[in-house]
Amino acid sequence: MQKRLTLLGSTGSIGESTLDVVARHPDRFSVHALTAHRNGDKLVAQCLRFQPDLAVVGDADTAAKVAAALRAGGCRTEVLYGAEALVHAASSGQCDTVVAAIVGAAGLAPTLAAARAGKRILLANKEALVMSGQIFIDAVRDHGAVLLPVDSEHNAVFQCLPRCAADEVALHGGVSRIILTASGGPFRTREPSTLVNVTPDEACKHPNWVMGRKISVDSATMMNKGLEVIEAHWLFDLPGSRIDVLIHPQSVIHSMVSYADGSVLAQLGNPDMRTPIAHALAYPDRVESGVAPLDLAQIATLTFEKPDFERFPCLALAIKALDAGGVASAALNAANEVAVEAFLARRIGFMAIGEVVERVLNALPNTSAATLDDVLAADASARRLAHGFVDKLSSGASSTPPAERIAH
Ligand code: NDP
Repeated sequence: MQKRLTLLGSTGSIGESTLDVVARHPDRFSVHALTAHRNGDKLVAQCLRFQPDLAVVGDADTAAKVAAALRAGGCRTEVLYGAEALVHAASSGQCDTVVAAIVGAAGLAPTLAAARAGKRILLANKEALVMSGQIFIDAVRDHGAVLLPVDSEHNAVFQCLPRCAADEVALHGGVSRIILTASGGPFRTREPSTLVNVTPDEACKHPNWVMGRKISVDSATMMNKGLEVIEAHWLFDLPGSRIDVLIHPQSVIHSMVSYADGSVLAQLGNPDMRTPIAHALAYPDRVESGVAPLDLAQIATLTFEKPDFERFPCLALAIKALDAGGVASAALNAANEVAVEAFLARRIGFMAIGEVVERVLNALPNTSAATLDDVLAADASARRLAHGFVDKLSSGASSTPPAERIAH
């Protein structure tokens, strides 16, 4: 049966890769809704091509421009805007599958709405799960939703796990550890003292993957891997102590599962998000994704090393937040979003990202994350604190170099 999709964040890197796969299989997939934030031009082009019922943008001005351009192109897509409209698109009875590819906390409400509407959710928006953790997993279970990981590492783990429910994997599947691979990003081998002055463009120049700017910076700080450890904890119901991070600069092995009998299963492929997207879209079938076949003889060498937590303090902070429980992961995520935005706007240096996150975690009391209100309150407080620290750092209130300040 044809799957009908809502694609949250269609104008982003994951959104575009998803539409590329969708376009290859018009018999299997069709589009109910596409959503963007401000990039109306790209959204118009996508609507003209995929003819969705609904398009959603962030504000009234963009909505008016998109609606006018669609009318002129003879396209009958309805155009809505705002947070409620995103929730409407994600929970609509007109779609069965929701691809969650909005970046950051803005994706939480519609992704949670999709879970509560019992959708099949293809999750790229890791921040939503990092923030809401148990609340999200409970919503998936209570409403009969299906959660399929799109993040390449988690999709790889999913492919390497036995086919049983997450709780059974932990208890009976013989799984001993999950090994999340990490490229190490653009600064893996760079002299740490030179990181103070790196530019946003340097940080966004990932050696293997083409991604949006926020996740590219997260990869450079390795906060991305930290968020992925938290994501893996919730997706696969394993404690942080059984989730390892292994640097693998070639990004060919996308992650591994280690079993009690000594077996280690790995999923390999070229670093192209269309593979995990196609896997999750068609699951349990396999479909062509447009990704070139893997040529191991040409790659020839696969290497591995342990992560350096001193070079990448954000990775250590994320693991610490997972261990702390409560709202610590939500606070970590919020502080990181504020700090990355400030770095991309050239208000703070690269090494100050970890410093802002650490200061927020130290300043904010860790409380229970029993309800969504608890999570949203922690998110708001962490953002307020982070903005304060960013203001101080960007006004030069701190005189020591960022690298030294992190080490306290
Ligand atoms: P991009 O920045 O490329 O795209 C983000 C998308 O979200 C765009 O469609 C953007 O719209 C939309 N968006 C941004 N802000 C808002 C907002 N406030 N409200 C509603 N929509 C918004 O990000 P990526 O595609 O790189 O990443 C998306 C998610 O997938 C992230 O959570 C990331 O961690 C995860 N992911 C990405 C991978 C990748 O390879 N890119 C790999 C694994 C996970 P507009 O274009 O109009 O701004």
